[in-house]
Amino acid sequence: MRYAIFSDVHGNLQALESVAKRMDQLKVDRRICLGDVVGYGGNPNECVERVAQIADLTIAGNHDHAVLGTTDVGYFNSNAQAAVFWTREILRERSREFLGDLPLVAGEGYLFFVHGSPREPERWHYVLSTPEADLNFEYFDTDLCLIGHSHRPFLATKRGEDQCTVRALNEDRILIEEGSRYIVNEGSVGQPRDGDPRACFLILDAEERSAKIERVPYDIAGAQRAILEAGLPPALADRLRYGS
Ligand code: ZN
Repeated sequence: MRYAIFSDVHGNLQALESVAKRMDQLKVDRRICLGDVVGYGGNPNECVERVAQIADLTIAGNHDHAVLGTTDVGYFNSNAQAAVFWTREILRERSREFLGDLPLVAGEGYLFFVHGSPREPERWHYVLSTPEADLNFEYFDTDLCLIGHSHRPFLATKRGEDQCTVRALNEDRILIEEGSRYIVNEGSVGQPRDGDPRACFLILDAEERSAKIERVPYDIAGAQRAILEAGLPPALADRLRYGS
């Protein structure tokens, strides 16, 4: 079974279409979306519709809950808040229903899926530091936990009781070794923040127990135009060019 794991589309339809095309080229069997379909970008309804079409399973993200009003946006920065308020205005009923039905966590085989962190998924913690990653290994039972949320691809590896090691993830191949446990952040489709502006997702071969980050160029100018035409803060368009 070959999986494509993707998340943090954030209303960026141009990035999502390029990623969907690459998934087809790579002959993926199962597509899992780890949340944040909306927020920041100019095409939230179109992205919900497309994710509903292509994903076999979608997990809820904090921005999905924010536009539904089911999580506090007090800790969002002003640009993120502006995007939430605009998205609330234009979100169609069908999109709301889809986002409202998403689970916070799911699992299959040796995989566990969550948007932010296995520890208190509903509180949207960021897993950025080694101690935070290490703590999270207590909150899932499988070999491999897949997360999104920070928009920065990384790999945390835990062997036995030792503290885990964490490293940023490039496009190199990772092996999921028996006896070790892992947390993998698969990056962001629609708003990468690791300095590489290309859309990002993960390919995972469950039998081979290997995984690899994929980076896909997309029509950044088109995504920027959609943000500006929506009247959203220009900073949200600018950052796409830098992947920041
Ligand atoms: Zn996000």
